[in-house]
Amino acid sequence: MNHAAHNTMEPIYEGKAKRLYTTEDPNVLRMEYKDSATAFNGEKKEDFENKGRFNKAITLIIYKMLEEKGVKTHLVSDMDDINLLVRKVSIMPLEVIVRNVAAGSFSKRMGVAEGTQFTKPIVEFSYKDDALGDPFINDDYAREMGAASEEDSAYVKKTALLINETLKEFFLKANLRLIDFKIEFGRLATDPTQIVLADEITPDTCRLWDVETNEKMDKDRFRRGLGGFMEAYAEVLNRLQK
Ligand code: UDP
Repeated sequence: MNHAAHNTMEPIYEGKAKRLYTTEDPNVLRMEYKDSATAFNGEKKEDFENKGRFNKAITLIIYKMLEEKGVKTHLVSDMDDINLLVRKVSIMPLEVIVRNVAAGSFSKRMGVAEGTQFTKPIVEFSYKDDALGDPFINDDYAREMGAASEEDSAYVKKTALLINETLKEFFLKANLRLIDFKIEFGRLATDPTQIVLADEITPDTCRLWDVETNEKMDKDRFRRGLGGFMEAYAEVLNRLQK
């Protein structure tokens, strides 16, 4: 193979916020965090300096903390300011959303005011398919769509609730209230029976409100054009580092 061509390093996958590259180890990938922000299924799009750096750093802190609490994740190691090394997985076509407080699509769909506290967390699944608009599904749909067996759905739900309890406590120490979040799981390339937490956990994928002021410290600042978008991400990172 032409050595120069090999060095161009085309990503094997490019998503809205990250790119994936191969490494010398066939079971390890490099995940690069991009500076782009998107909302409304990619309709609204803009680049923000340092976004990739903030989100990589926030994900790393959270994944390390979750690993310490016994949650299996795809994290291998830190690499540089915008890259992590991760285990190769096959992502399950499920978006797993956990909600502690009504907001976003829940409030819209159910007509419940944002900020309404739930008695217990809600776990919901969406089927990951941009063309279909990531439709809301349940574990029966997941089984029939071949997205997750009943056992896998139960495991994913239990793990999501454990992650929620861990994250809630962690963010609270940073004076942040975890309103809701989205996570994804993958099957290890080396052993597809093993399901691990994959993808990012950042203010792109979590709603975080300041405990004292209720100020939004997450992607809603971009979605709703509130300004101070990267300032909020910098503040979240700063608080988590303390
Ligand atoms: N979320 C996400 N990616 C998605 C959909 C939702 O990261 O494709 C996150 C979102 O940031 C929020 C939570 O999941 O923290 C719940 O989102 P919701 O269903 O309320 O949808 P939204 O209001 O974001 O459309």
